Amino acid sequence: MSMQLGLDGMPARLVRVTPSRLATWEDCRRRYRLTYLDRPAPPRGGPRAASTLGAVVHNALHAVFGEPPARRSPARAAAEVDRRWSDEGFRDDAQAAVYRERARGWVSDYVERHAVADAPEPAGETVGRERWLSAPVGTIVAEGRADRLDDRDGEIVVVDYKTGRRVPDRDDVARAPALALYALAVRRVLRRPCRRVELHHLPSGTVAAADHDEDTLAAHRARAEASAAGLAEAADALEAAPGRAEALFPPAPGPRCAACDVRRHCPEGRAAAPPDAAWAGLAP
Ligand code: SF4
Repeated sequence: MSMQLGLDGMPARLVRVTPSRLATWEDCRRRYRLTYLDRPAPPRGGPRAASTLGAVVHNALHAVFGEPPARRSPARAAAEVDRRWSDEGFRDDAQAAVYRERARGWVSDYVERHAVADAPEPAGETVGRERWLSAPVGTIVAEGRADRLDDRDGEIVVVDYKTGRRVPDRDDVARAPALALYALAVRRVLRRPCRRVELHHLPSGTVAAADHDEDTLAAHRARAEASAAGLAEAADALEAAPGRAEALFPPAPGPRCAACDVRRHCPEGRAAAPPDAAWAGLAP
């Protein structure tokens, strides 16, 4: 936690949060406690293929965008997938091989379209890759790692890569708390205008974009501040009274429990949904 002066001149606490921490709190309080508070951390579920695939694609693009446009190429992008490939979480070798080939195609198509010197839809100048952001935003310190930051005509654009089943649309982008928090943090850290946020979905080759304004960013900020205040208050209460863990952090059983990586510690979640296979959630 950090401190700043509040309106009454007394020190006010700044709660340090990442988008994933806020999302976990909003989804399920028990999962939040098991993930972020209980120490030693309870054992998690095993690797999931969708996470492996996402990490490989992110890392391959990270490498390609680290080169100047003249040195990028679709073949180089496919080779980066091969270099980073892992079979963890896939059903078997055959399934892993299918997705490895798909990932090679997704990444090379993407680079051809957005990243090479004569790309038809140029990304702009890359000013951040997996860039760690940390900045005071209202009553929180917003933190997280942005997949890519592009400079387009003097404005910074926040880019997030997606590799899952769902093809995002404009509403998904506008509603995404992480992207809005990154836009707010970028303004503070880089001192540059930042309104546009984008989700780049590799399997479908689509880009969904939204332009925030001061009102939409203020709404995201208010929601993040409210969640951060709630999680900080609950953590303080747990520290004061460890026996109240179940009351302070109740489970929220539902379909999400199928893929929850702490379900082995949660009887209500196990009763709510059978476990997903480790390869569930892969883009078709
Ligand atoms: S299994 Fe469901 S209810 Fe249990 S911690 Fe996970 S998300 Fe929450």
